[in-house]
Amino acid sequence: MENNPEFTFSKLRFDPRFVKQLPADPIKDNHRRQVASACFSYVNPTPVSSPQLIAYSKELAEQLELSASDCQSDLFTQIFAGNQLLSDMTPYAQCYGGHQFGHWAGQLGDGRAINLGEVTNSAGEHHILQLKGAGATPYSRTADGLAVLRSSVREFICSEAMYHLGVPTTRALSLVTTGEEVVRDMFYDGNPKPEPGAIVCRVSPSFLRFGSYEIFAAQDDTETLKKLVDYTIETDFSHLGKPSRDIYLQWFDEVCQRTVEMIVHWMRVGFVHGVMNTDNMSVLGLTIDYGPYGWLDNYDPNWTPNTTDATNRRYRYGQQAQIAQWNLVQLANAIYPLIEDAESLGQSINDYAHEYASQLEAMRAAKLGLKAYQVDDANLVSELHKVLQLVETDMTLFYRGLADLSTETQYQTDEQLLSAISDAYYVEDQLTLDNKAAICQWLRQYQQRIRQDGTYDIERKVAMNKVNPKYVFRNYLAQIAADKAEQGDFSLVNELLEVFRYPYDEQPDKAQYAVKRPDWARERAGCSMLSCSS
Ligand code: AMP
Ligand code: MG
Repeated sequence: MENNPEFTFSKLRFDPRFVKQLPADPIKDNHRRQVASACFSYVNPTPVSSPQLIAYSKELAEQLELSASDCQSDLFTQIFAGNQLLSDMTPYAQCYGGHQFGHWAGQLGDGRAINLGEVTNSAGEHHILQLKGAGATPYSRTADGLAVLRSSVREFICSEAMYHLGVPTTRALSLVTTGEEVVRDMFYDGNPKPEPGAIVCRVSPSFLRFGSYEIFAAQDDTETLKKLVDYTIETDFSHLGKPSRDIYLQWFDEVCQRTVEMIVHWMRVGFVHGVMNTDNMSVLGLTIDYGPYGWLDNYDPNWTPNTTDATNRRYRYGQQAQIAQWNLVQLANAIYPLIEDAESLGQSINDYAHEYASQLEAMRAAKLGLKAYQVDDANLVSELHKVLQLVETDMTLFYRGLADLSTETQYQTDEQLLSAISDAYYVEDQLTLDNKAAICQWLRQYQQRIRQDGTYDIERKVAMNKVNPKYVFRNYLAQIAADKAEQGDFSLVNELLEVFRYPYDEQPDKAQYAVKRPDWARERAGCSMLSCSS
């Protein structure tokens, strides 16, 4: 019975809204092309020779109402490697454009992503199942439509880690290796080499991006643009009401607000997306397209993990909110023909900035264990950011350590004060007397502020440890997990997946995954810098 798809996966109820309601590319043949007046092209995944399931997400499988035995079945592996289609699946690739590094890039589209179908669970939740790396599509341009294992491991683990951290994100159901080789020039230095291929099944209620709307504006195709905006509102924003000019404005405003929330979460956990092009901005405000992303080790607002962006650092940690706003302006321009009211669209863009400032303050107060952000806290925060950069300081360890700092003991020596956060420092030599004095001055200012709040240390610690994670997907951990996976050892992939299910818990037996970046990883490719080659 197991090989009877209709039996094993009978609980997956398909509801192909996207393909039913939106215009399709009439050409069915799979060759690279420019597509006009269509939101997607039908295309099947390319079968692979010997797929192997490496890992799957238990929580997501549960949400999709797939049992453990479903997930461990051969059929599951075949489906999520792109080798077997269920009869209700309608595979397609989406058409979209985008601004890349500030410039309009024309048609991009799902060059290596194929949506297998859209399912609803018994709670009525919609999920699109999308294979990344399952072969070429009409949007593959000059590339191969494939993905390598290292980038798939990174996307798979990070999506689920972000979910458990409480950051809005697309999800990842499964990671399979294909048994085939994919050639990549990882350093763009003319030395391509074969790497193992892999496929991740990504899951999201929608994979629409800002670029999905921009492409029709660029083609002066207001009719298709309107269909797509109406569809978006009727499906994922139905709480707003029936599409109309006013509802378009409300919709745009909500996209702005969701984007604020996403960026504030990124800032909270130290996530740097690395390639915030408009084709990588989800209209649902979800983190999408895990490529050359990275996590801050030492606190440095200028850091970017993406080597392609090393010169301008457009997508650096400290500039993510401004870039998201720039991207929202591109979306506003794209939908303008439906609204023709620049002032109201501009109002939402301005509100974005105000809302970001206020949510950022609230987030910073929470990270510090303050009851609320007060005007005078601007000084405490700006001094903190100076102190964090005075000496190379691990951001994650600093905040966890700060939660342990006693504010109830009246007199503490500098050494006693520093002991709570000593693990966070990378370079012993930088802890000069002057620097230690500056850090301690800040710690005393902080203690005073907490006393003014009247919070007990014990309560403060509990509150802080709910917003300051202990376990984040540090760049060097991603590198080790990928290196081991390439050697055929997938134990770390599965172990990290497990650790990141409880990122705010102490998990004493997993403490080795909460330590700062080791010295060998400081300048190593993959650990401190990544290319887009994946
Ligand atoms: P990204 O920088 O990953 O957002 O990708 C930008 C564009 O290039 C998107 O249209 C992707 O689908 C496409 N793309 C990236 N890698 C590949 C690949 N290996 N094969 C085909 N298309 C790709
Ligand atoms: Mg992309």
